[in-house]
Amino acid sequence: MLEGLMQDDHPLTLGHVLERMRGMNGDGEVVTLTDDGLRRARYAEVAERVDRLCAGLRELGIEEGDRVATFSWNTQDHLEAYFAAPCMGAVLHTLNIRLFPEQLEYIVNHAEDKVILVDSSLVSAIEELAPRFETVRNFVVMGDGDAGSLPNVVRYEELLERQSPGFAHPRLDERTAAALCYTSGTTGNPKGVLYSHRSSVLHALTTCTADALGVSREDRVLPVVPMFHANAWGLAHAAPLAGADMVMPSRFLQPEPLARLIAEERVTLAGAVPTIWLDLLRHVDEHDTDLSSLRMVVCGGAAVPRSLMEAFEDRHAIRIVQAWGMTETSPLGSVAHAPAETEGEEHWDYRSTAGRLMPLVEARIVSDEGEEMPWDGESTGELEVRGPWIARTYYEDSTADDKFHDGWLRTGDVAALDAKGYIRITDRAKDVIKSGGEWISSVDLEGELMAHEAVSEAAVIARPDERWSERPLACVVLAEGGSASVDDLREHLGERVAKWWIPSEFAFIDEVPKTSVGKFDKKVLRQRLEDGELELAGEGAVVS
Ligand code: AMP
Repeated sequence: MLEGLMQDDHPLTLGHVLERMRGMNGDGEVVTLTDDGLRRARYAEVAERVDRLCAGLRELGIEEGDRVATFSWNTQDHLEAYFAAPCMGAVLHTLNIRLFPEQLEYIVNHAEDKVILVDSSLVSAIEELAPRFETVRNFVVMGDGDAGSLPNVVRYEELLERQSPGFAHPRLDERTAAALCYTSGTTGNPKGVLYSHRSSVLHALTTCTADALGVSREDRVLPVVPMFHANAWGLAHAAPLAGADMVMPSRFLQPEPLARLIAEERVTLAGAVPTIWLDLLRHVDEHDTDLSSLRMVVCGGAAVPRSLMEAFEDRHAIRIVQAWGMTETSPLGSVAHAPAETEGEEHWDYRSTAGRLMPLVEARIVSDEGEEMPWDGESTGELEVRGPWIARTYYEDSTADDKFHDGWLRTGDVAALDAKGYIRITDRAKDVIKSGGEWISSVDLEGELMAHEAVSEAAVIARPDERWSERPLACVVLAEGGSASVDDLREHLGERVAKWWIPSEFAFIDEVPKTSVGKFDKKVLRQRLEDGELELAGEGAVVS
């Protein structure tokens, strides 16, 4: 009866963020580190280039709903694509440059990408695959470098140059798809997560709240987390929305250029996985660097060691705040600010959790028996979440439907929730390993190991690692009469999987423990590892 009298039909779209960039936030700055020093542009200029890119993509035949892929670092050009594709009604598909060839081929074909925008420094990583992309019509090369053997190349700057200023942006429904990102944190093929305009805007807005990252106009934001990882944790939307400046590291992700960038560009907020901060800590411990501009560092994607947070705070007065999330959760789900009244051990206990649930994110803990557990900080079970920026299915893939039920996402993380909404992760139910922020499939490694003639069984588990968070440990049972050295197995894997997947350590065991239904019982192996009962064999060891 009261319909039409309220404002609830005003769409939440990224077009609104674009208009703020063009207008009231127009003097915000985007700084990108390049081979030739720093490239600077104001948001107003970036918005104008977004319009030109929209027109350029239209020239290349992109229509509403088409997928436009990017294969790039964090740069100004990438930011332009972040807004151009969605604001013209197309879908931005960010390709993870670290996936290996078969996975890339799979996701490009599965998403049916029409165009790929490639940073010229990454041409060599994709050119050989180009003939296998079934739907890609053009490669738009960003930057000055060579386009190699890529077919149907269009140069980004030339494409923009030949467009007239201004673009008639369509008025979009907020439920229009805006972006697509595949995750390999599952078994089987990577799965696509589709984000709507509404979910992107709500996520960005909540990222700006004080109990989350508090992104404001005063900030200079450095997303070290790649823009191909779940929307760079929302920073690439939140900063332009708030009017915060952005400092883009491009491919210069080593500690020295990062430290220099923070110091010289007076970065106030930076985000990256623990591996990056561990490397940076080592660097700043040894080199006098002024990082005093940083008001907060957000860290997540894997458990953040308390020692890392304490070292930064004690030695450099830098506050690292842990966050938890997934590609499926846009990605921010929780942020670990300790309650103001806490101090000492209690303060650090809160800081060491995976964080407190963000507004609009609902959660529950479900036991193996399907029972909902109390929020008592003790009872553990699988963490399930739902909310306006949390996936409710995978894109055109029903093979993992069991991850979604009754509107809830099964995260695969085993956790406890306390009465205040803090999540404490205790284990992982999903069979994958996260190394330096990237997923390694234990199942794939096991399959390849068991293909070796001397191996009868192999179970791969995560081994905690100070630098990479986790590294795979292969527990191998040799076939009767079989003989293989660690080097043999590493060489065998070297021909079949990405180099960084290869386990550095192996444990030769008599038998893989099994559950009552005959599945590998990795919990037992993990416990044995923790108890020091697994004898680890490094390179050169021979067992028969
Ligand atoms: P991704 O989809 O690649 O972002 O990976 C999401 C997964 O990374 C989560 O389900 C967790 O297993 C892990 N993860 C993310 N943040 C944290 C954290 N703060 N502590 C522990 N695990 C985390």
